Amino acid sequence: MIRVLFLAGSGRSGSTLVTTVLGQLDGFFAAGELRYLWQRGLVDDRPCGCGAAVRDCPMWRPILADLPAHDPAGIAQGLRTRLRMRNRLRVEPHPDDEVIAALYRGIAEHTGGAIIVDSSKLPPYAVLVRSLPGVDLRVVHVVRDPRAAAFSWRRRRSLDGDDRLMTRHPVWKAALLWSVWNAAVLRRFGRGAYLRVRYEDLVANPTLWVREIAAFAGASPAAGLPFTSEGLLTLGVTHSVAGNPVRHRTGAVPVTADDEWRQGMSRFSHAVVTALTAPLLPRLGYPFGRRTLP
Ligand SMILES: [Zn+2]
Repeated sequence: MIRVLFLAGSGRSGSTLVTTVLGQLDGFFAAGELRYLWQRGLVDDRPCGCGAAVRDCPMWRPILADLPAHDPAGIAQGLRTRLRMRNRLRVEPHPDDEVIAALYRGIAEHTGGAIIVDSSKLPPYAVLVRSLPGVDLRVVHVVRDPRAAAFSWRRRRSLDGDDRLMTRHPVWKAALLWSVWNAAVLRRFGRGAYLRVRYEDLVANPTLWVREIAAFAGASPAAGLPFTSEGLLTLGVTHSVAGNPVRHRTGAVPVTADDEWRQGMSRFSHAVVTALTAPLLPRLGYPFGRRTLP
């Protein structure tokens, strides 16, 4: 069995933090946003979490060398077309799936059967991965207050040193994306092998939640949680591909709630995001107002 822990949800919800933390635990491999391996890792030559180009990374090179002959640009193009959210979460089989299946198999083989943490987020891609032969897919739904996520989307942050790549969205668009993606995760995966983790709960009690996620994934990290007593996270190098540039951070990193939005967000933006996400807020445990969570 190839065990895949899939982090699903919308952007700027803390999935990079979860991936990096899990990557510190024995028995887990933080692979990053695998759906972007082909385009960003292989076509655009963006760096692995370790800083090397993905092709030259000592972790990825042997995995890639074992894949059947393939065209990364073609696979990337195929995925873009097949994974459109408007396809209503139906993902038709495709010849490229043989290479994608070989990728997950290869990761499992080269990591001694580690649980693969795939932070691709996009619900249709989770559907695709779940359909691959031999894959046991468990979904962790990472959610964050949509006002916080929308506030974060407006910030400029460079992606691997390239200012153009990290998308910014106006708050209304961020709110719509939050609603569509989270509703899709709930609809498609809300029953079955599913665990919901709110970013706010995670940063308030990281030790508890990391244990919870590890147990859900079927692992038992007896010891070695990467936290010091002062609430610092001790991060070693990961080999995660694509995604938020914070994946390159190593050393002691504080785990704190990023709640700048409570002061920084205008009344108008707050009202717009609240109105557009209102149907899902109570279900995911978020208040309509600005007060902090219980
Ligand atoms: Zn690497």
